[in-house]
Amino acid sequence: DGGGDAESVAFYSQDMNLGMQARMRLETGLRHALAENQLLLHYQPKYALGSGRMIGAEALVRWRHPVHGMIPPAEFIPLAESTGLVVQVGEWVLEAACAQAQAWKQAGLPPIRIAVNVSAREFTSALPGRVAAMLERYGLEAAWLELEITESTLMHNIERVIGIMDRITALGVALSLDDFGTGYSSLSYLKRFPIDTLKIDRSFTTGIPSDASDCAIATTIISIAQQLHHKVIAEGVETAEQMAFLNSAGCDEVQGYLFSRPLAAEEFECVLRLNWNL
Ligand code: C2E
Ligand code: CA
Ligand code: CA
Ligand code: CA
Repeated sequence: DGGGDAESVAFYSQDMNLGMQARMRLETGLRHALAENQLLLHYQPKYALGSGRMIGAEALVRWRHPVHGMIPPAEFIPLAESTGLVVQVGEWVLEAACAQAQAWKQAGLPPIRIAVNVSAREFTSALPGRVAAMLERYGLEAAWLELEITESTLMHNIERVIGIMDRITALGVALSLDDFGTGYSSLSYLKRFPIDTLKIDRSFTTGIPSDASDCAIATTIISIAQQLHHKVIAEGVETAEQMAFLNSAGCDEVQGYLFSRPLAAEEFECVLRLNWNL
């Protein structure tokens, strides 16, 4: 991951066994980054396989460090999750994505869905109200926003999680289930989640078409999605062979380096205009 950030310096280790001092240095640095506006979002296009239309984007956070350069999320999100600071990071990300969507809306661009990653610690009963407030503040229809949640979010108190999901979908904001198949969520619960889209994890996409198991898993996820009336998107599509396989298996949407890396907002806007002939 993070191929778009080749210039980044491995300044904070992903290792969760970092010493206390390193963790505190990270936490202090990240608080500072929030206060000093050092975070930024890149946007990776999502495409409908049928039409070739760009139908959305995934917002991916980066930390532009004044000394260490561009730091990818893998180097600070896991620790931010363990300290709880991910909640503030998530608030910043949601607001930044809505502010960007407002700018694109005002520029006359079509209402594409901007997908924001939400970590398990942010998935509290406060989240639906925060989402509603952001849509209101930035004058956005719910169609501009989507939340990506991971299976680990769904492993805690199921009834409570479903209640929060229902309140979010009642706003019209779509939910997608990220990294699907990598966690332990039970299929019997899956039918109860008000999910719009299942996202095939990159670890499965990577093995297509040479790895028979990955092909079988991807095909099965697509079939589950179809039978539960969910859309299905594959992430990490890097080759034309992967795209062809996913297309013939009935996958709805794709995202990956074959189409585009995550882009700065201005670059993303150019690509969107080209794709829509605007
Ligand atoms: P993710 O949600 O699974 O995001 C997809 C990651 O795969 C992104 O890495 C993206 O740049 C990368 N990617 C996309 N297409 C390809 C491809 O074709 N090949 C390869 N090799 N990689 C591809 P990134 O931006 O470094 O993000 C890594 C992870 O950090 C994300 O994984 C997500 O779990 C987390 N993350 C990123 N932004 C946020 C955020 O705003 N909030 C939270 N809570 N987590 C975030
Ligand atoms: Ca994601
Ligand atoms: Ca993912
Ligand atoms: Ca993934």
